[in-house]
Amino acid sequence: MTSNELREKFLNFFREKKHAVIPSASLIPENDPTVLFTTAGMHPLVPFLLGEKHPAGNRLANVQICIRTDDIDEVGDEVHHTFFEMLGNWSLGDYFKEEAIKLSFEFLTDKKWLGIRKEKLAISIFEGDQDAPRDEESGKIWLSLGVPEERIKGLPKKENWWGPAGETGPCGPDTEMFYWTGKESAPKEFDPQDKRWVEIWNDVFMEYFKNMDSRYEPLSQKNVDTGMGLERMLSSINGLADDYRTDVFWPILRELEKASGVKYEEKKKEFRIIADHIKAATFIIGDENGVEPSNLGQGYVVRRLIRRAIRYGKVLNLPKYFLISLIQKVIGIYGDSYPYLKRKENDIATIVQKEEEKFEKTLEEGLKQFEKGLDAFELYTTYGFPLELTMELAKEKGRTIDVTEFNEKFKKHQELSRTASAGMFKGGLADTGKQAVKYHTATHLLLAALRQILGPNVYQKGSNINAERLRFDFSHPQKMTQEQIKKVEDIVNQKIKEDLPVICEEMSLEKAKEKGATGVFEEKYGEKVKVYGIGEFSKEICGGPHVERTSELGEFKILKEESSSSGVRRIRAVLK
Ligand code: ATP
Ligand code: MG
Repeated sequence: MTSNELREKFLNFFREKKHAVIPSASLIPENDPTVLFTTAGMHPLVPFLLGEKHPAGNRLANVQICIRTDDIDEVGDEVHHTFFEMLGNWSLGDYFKEEAIKLSFEFLTDKKWLGIRKEKLAISIFEGDQDAPRDEESGKIWLSLGVPEERIKGLPKKENWWGPAGETGPCGPDTEMFYWTGKESAPKEFDPQDKRWVEIWNDVFMEYFKNMDSRYEPLSQKNVDTGMGLERMLSSINGLADDYRTDVFWPILRELEKASGVKYEEKKKEFRIIADHIKAATFIIGDENGVEPSNLGQGYVVRRLIRRAIRYGKVLNLPKYFLISLIQKVIGIYGDSYPYLKRKENDIATIVQKEEEKFEKTLEEGLKQFEKGLDAFELYTTYGFPLELTMELAKEKGRTIDVTEFNEKFKKHQELSRTASAGMFKGGLADTGKQAVKYHTATHLLLAALRQILGPNVYQKGSNINAERLRFDFSHPQKMTQEQIKKVEDIVNQKIKEDLPVICEEMSLEKAKEKGATGVFEEKYGEKVKVYGIGEFSKEICGGPHVERTSELGEFKILKEESSSSGVRRIRAVLK
């Protein structure tokens, strides 16, 4: 089975089961300052899991691209990647445990779908503790479907519980499905410690709300959130030894074999890391909210991925600029499913090549300094050496690195730049911060003001918001003049002063267009879309959330107007 077939099968199955198929959201969350990347299919749906109505309905399915930097140390094994695709289905207050489990089971085992033999599957459920009881209900449902008792294991919160990321929030038990990847037939009894049992799918049941005094109250809207790793599922049903032999990796590995003259079998770890990292970097740079390598936030992650891939490339004696041919392979694999990658192919290649040039120079100099004893943090700030690269070098040279000291210095550095950074990778249901919501409304005002001053050819090209600032990319061929910037700022402040109401309406896409609503989310949702209006001044198709009145925003100030890429300008602005 190919990756295309698996994606299609999954979506068709859930279509048949009355789910609306929604597109993948951006890898870079637009309105959630608590994480750098989308780490699961659940993530972009947070507002809807919290009770907001989804325009496409309450039964949803999709393929979501994800980045998990938390798993970077695991990359090199058979089944963990920094970039992967998650197949998911959701019930927003619609079906619950019984139907969810039955759906998973049918898709996995029915001949019409994946046709996996029951003997190859095992199940974990939440075993219960002082906060919430054992998830007997799920256990019984699995039993009723013919999964033997020895193949169903209760596990603690650490394994089979989801959320909340913060102190309070929705949460609940989950039940996970495992696939036997061993060569011999699967043992009768499920042993979760045995690595040959690979987790392939996870059904989360959001049924509690953890409140301020840490009590777990039943939720009124119970949700289901599931996630299945495409790569793992694909290698499992094809009986492959690891994910890298599937069609979403193999062409990259073949190219590496060709370029290095080394066989994958001989240097598995290096091959895996290089292939994984270049894929992730390609997707992060190519994303609709794409970022370039830098020393902060998402940019730092891309830098780390590219530089680490280059470092491992050196182990294989790969020539300079070998990453470029790999990018072409990545886009060859994914270009049809994610056409924006094709459109940005040249940009991605140029950005990666520039980063490689930079790194080559600093690598030489940095290595010299490292030999002389320069510490990890200075190597990071001065030469752009990611910590883990320095640690790898140190290991080779038998030196040790003081990670605590590095982290302390890094933290100080972070506080200075006051930006989202390397620590914030954990996914979870974070409340959308108050300040971020204000910035979100401010971007609507900004876009409307830009269109008023620069003309109707101005469109949103990207937006990135955190609690400290907004960053907004828009189409415009030249630099704005000081006067234009001032005018835009004045208009936004004027609209804030007017204390305009922010009102959300649901309507069909046609209707929204008819009403002159702008929005970059046009292809994203099904039939109905949400349109946020700010007085008569702005109308945008958007998922929200927003403030209720513009006066909540305070004073708007543009800090910088600069080029983002060809034909695209970038504004950074703050609210005071
Ligand atoms: P694991 O314990 O194997 O790391 P997980 O508990 O972190 O998995 P979930 O957060 O439940 O996984 O994600 C749902 C599904 O996504 C998993 O069942 C798995 O199929 C897939 N998945 C999770 N992390 C990765 C990864 N780093 N690379 C590839 N697939 C992954
Ligand atoms: Mg994990």
